[in-house]
Amino acid sequence: MFDLLNKIVNENKKYIKNGHVATYIPALAEVDENQLGVAIVDLRDCNCKEYFAGDYNKSFAIESTSKVIALIMAMMDNSPQYVFRKIGVEPSGFAFNSILNMKINNKPYPSNPFINAGAIIVNSLIMGKNSNEKTNRILEFTRKLTNNPNIHVIEDIYLSEKRTGDINRSLAYYMKGHGLIDNVEDVLDCYFRQCSISVTAIDLARIGAILANKGVSPFTGEMIIPRDICTIVKSIMVTCGLYDESGDFAVHIGIPAKSGVGGGILATVPNKMGIGVFGPSLDAMGNSVAGVKILQQLSNELVLDIFD
Ligand code: GLU
Repeated sequence: MFDLLNKIVNENKKYIKNGHVATYIPALAEVDENQLGVAIVDLRDCNCKEYFAGDYNKSFAIESTSKVIALIMAMMDNSPQYVFRKIGVEPSGFAFNSILNMKINNKPYPSNPFINAGAIIVNSLIMGKNSNEKTNRILEFTRKLTNNPNIHVIEDIYLSEKRTGDINRSLAYYMKGHGLIDNVEDVLDCYFRQCSISVTAIDLARIGAILANKGVSPFTGEMIIPRDICTIVKSIMVTCGLYDESGDFAVHIGIPAKSGVGGGILATVPNKMGIGVFGPSLDAMGNSVAGVKILQQLSNELVLDIFD
């Protein structure tokens, strides 16, 4: 498996030049776009072995991939029924930060939890009396999911997001105006921190492995996420996980996944494995350009398409 992953990383490096790092968050524009790495946590192996190649151990900002973690927490803190009274589960067809994502029938209703408006609502549903307490809970839960005590907020990214986050601010105030959230600045502060958490491809692969294993940690045997919540999250990853490329990704790759503009992709193959990819050069839709190619090759070579 190590040989296969090394081969796949090397073969897909050529796609890096077809994209660019995200620049709308200034701190992300500083990231070296030539990085590329992959990690797998294999559940088929009873020792749950980890395989990796390339820049698998480089830290990067989790960005939208955090929306998976936040959604799990909001559902565990409340209930899936409660969460989906406030947001939908439909692909939006609009950009991830568009206000048009909200179906407006007197009230905004974000189409799904993976677009920014929906993710801001999700963040507001996480228990905790303020941004600090909620951020600490998100960090603790992410440490548990990744088995990595070093998970932290990257301060530069957080400050950069906060300083330039006016589109998110406008989405949040619009929803406040319609009574969907209050404490806007506190919710946004926590949302910006949530997006600025530092992870590696291995961390993402470990989260993917727990989702693939129906919520049970393959490392400790502990049930970390209720099984029904894992099923909901994986379904929304299929329909909404890769921005406006989700349909194409489902058709050609067929693996539940969630990407982020930091270049990470968290993928989960039910009962088989978790996969984490990192490649900060993004395609026009905002997905890691070489990362998507790596997942396509892995899906073909290891026969991972869930629709197969
Ligand atoms: N923090 C980013 C934002 O809110 C996340 C975007 C993303 O990764 O899609 O704009």
